[in-house]
Amino acid sequence: MRFSTLFTKTRKDAPKDEIAKNAQLLIKAGFIHKEMAGVYSYLPLGKRVQEKIISIVREEMDKIGGQELVMTSLQKKEVWEITDRWDDEKVDVWFKAKLKNDTEVGFGWSHEEQITAMMKDYISSYRDLPANVYQFQTKLRNEVRAKSGVMRTREFVMKDLYSYSRSEEEHNEFYNKVIEAYHTIYKRLGIGDATFFTFASGGAFTQFSHEFQTLTEAGEDTIYLHRDKKIAINEEVLTDEVLSQLEIKREELEKVKAAEVGNIFSFGSNKCEQIGLYYSDKDGSQKPVVLGSYGIGITRVIGVIVELFSDEKGIVWPENISPYTVHLVSLAGEDENVKNRANEVYEQLTTKGIEVLFDDRADVPAGQKFSDADLIGIPHRIIVSTKTGEKVEYKARMGNESQLMSLDELISKFI
Ligand code: ATP
Ligand code: MG
Repeated sequence: MRFSTLFTKTRKDAPKDEIAKNAQLLIKAGFIHKEMAGVYSYLPLGKRVQEKIISIVREEMDKIGGQELVMTSLQKKEVWEITDRWDDEKVDVWFKAKLKNDTEVGFGWSHEEQITAMMKDYISSYRDLPANVYQFQTKLRNEVRAKSGVMRTREFVMKDLYSYSRSEEEHNEFYNKVIEAYHTIYKRLGIGDATFFTFASGGAFTQFSHEFQTLTEAGEDTIYLHRDKKIAINEEVLTDEVLSQLEIKREELEKVKAAEVGNIFSFGSNKCEQIGLYYSDKDGSQKPVVLGSYGIGITRVIGVIVELFSDEKGIVWPENISPYTVHLVSLAGEDENVKNRANEVYEQLTTKGIEVLFDDRADVPAGQKFSDADLIGIPHRIIVSTKTGEKVEYKARMGNESQLMSLDELISKFI
């Protein structure tokens, strides 16, 4: 991508009402645009990061047998009345509207009910199970607070997966596969070491739900971390009883702030019984399907990563989710030779399949180009100038030293 054609610009300041570091940096660097409190558009750079995260999550969900679909945002009131969750007191984040004929509809803040009702059209026999389905979707939630930038918004992208199993045993086996897949995902996203499997409340059927919590001061949750065991307990379930059950002593725990980047639940057969999703087993008996629900906050993860990986100059993207692999800076000025050389480097890198953001802007001073590169945060920088000749200058976003190397040497770094 040629910077000269990118419509977004970096900016010196974020809006005054933006207090979260993640959103301030993402706005200044041109990844997102703030529409109103808790509502952000994703611009080309931001969209690329989102897509990279989505690809990683998709790969891992497909590996464990997930099938991708996408549900609608408009939802029928009747479906949520079955489980008594249409009521605003029970679900306090509903956005609702009316059709022209006065029929009430809700905007999807979650899809458990709707998808389970839909599955009645596809699941009737033991042969139809297990079925594990997932989507990447924009959820709408009328959150009271929206002070954490993209970490808590009123419109956000979630990956939600729903597992339909024949028995508790089949369910548990899949549930454990999801836990493993989530660990792999967070590792690939660059936050594996900071993300902990956490016991939390809210299991509709089991005693706990399980959260994946990433340590950050910007997080809204308080968890109690057992570093050796690599697990944590959300403060909401920290009781003597739970501690003894998990064979953990209070003094072994460290109180820390964290952001919930994923949450998984077992529903048992409860919800399917309510909604009427049954299957006929081999012996002809009718049995309710066992449901699990597994979320990852895709856009929250972006915020968490920016909170964790940034410095006074800007963002520092982990390699796997950086919008581009290389930030190529041309310091050609009016020099035609350097201009040609920079173009040549750009063409060669992109031909090899390396993703390059090419700062080919003619009228921008070097200092501005470097500070923009620091702000945008692509991990590898290459400079072509009157001094680099047949070579190129390489510098890592976090490195202090730059290094002259041939293009072949450089390419071999990335391929
Ligand atoms: P929280 O406790 O943070 O409000 P939740 O428990 O209501 O979240 P879930 O319904 O479990 O969230 O949603 C799955 C995931 O979606 C969460 O683990 C989180 O990463 C993300 N998420 C939830 N609410 C928001 C939001 N308002 N903005 C951005 N991401 C969110
Ligand atoms: Mg949750």
